[in-house]
Amino acid sequence: MLTKTNGYLAGYDYTLNPYVGCVYGCHYCYVRALPVARFHPGDWGTYVDIKQIDERAFARELQSARRRGSVNIFMSSSTDPYQPVESRLHRTRQILDILLQDLDAFDFLLIQTRSPLVANDADRIRALGKKALVSLTIETDSEDVRKRFTPHAPPIAARMRALATLQDEGVQTQVAVSPILPFGPQFPELLRTVTQDVVLDDYFTGDGANGRRTAALQIHRRYHADELSKWYTKATLHRAYQRFVAVFGQQHVFRNQNGFLPPAMRRAEDRLRPSLRPDEAIQPPEAPK
Ligand code: SF4
Repeated sequence: MLTKTNGYLAGYDYTLNPYVGCVYGCHYCYVRALPVARFHPGDWGTYVDIKQIDERAFARELQSARRRGSVNIFMSSSTDPYQPVESRLHRTRQILDILLQDLDAFDFLLIQTRSPLVANDADRIRALGKKALVSLTIETDSEDVRKRFTPHAPPIAARMRALATLQDEGVQTQVAVSPILPFGPQFPELLRTVTQDVVLDDYFTGDGANGRRTAALQIHRRYHADELSKWYTKATLHRAYQRFVAVFGQQHVFRNQNGFLPPAMRRAEDRLRPSLRPDEAIQPPEAPK
């Protein structure tokens, strides 16, 4: 179940993918171009394979990893651990239960998802304490924008409700505005009602290849076609950073890879880049209704 990261995912020793494939099929998802998807029959977004989890074998695997050193786990790197089928099959829940049986066997688990199903496991995740963080993706507050870029992803309101549940349950959370999509002026305030921390990421540094993977997917055409091209620029990250810092405070807003590290490894974010002119300190353009 554990795959050594070989350093490509900074801060993590292993990735853990309970599924193969992802039915959310986000248009900007670069996993579709990676070998795990390229050599799999079927178009990305149309399939999900269910891994069988041998609980004893996984527990042994964890212990073996622990004997070799630190065990920081990123779940998941090439799927979403809360596929719709998780509500019936509970593969991710099985993994949480195994981790709960031996808290000394790992250092940290980041649960990266865009599904409100994660709230169904709030009790288990809370029991993991500071060893677990739910990073829930919400890239925009506009359902119209959400449908243009991620038509098969769960609605924003459902994700907001899930975050509220997790917060009420005392689970450590953050929102991953990743990638930043066109959003409205009240988006930071909206997110502040359900989480304390935010990570902002964009295509240009966030796709692991300086934007080349995103460029290969021709994502810019979706902006041009929708007359949103002013958002498809490196300046969007800096403008969004200003807006979110004004609402969350600088110590609660992270950028790019830094925001996905285990919290204990994160660097204090730099102050705003001086290259930004004061007249660039503007609110992002309004998203379409
Ligand atoms: S949810 Fe994640 S893994 Fe699934 S398609 Fe979207 S970006 Fe890719």
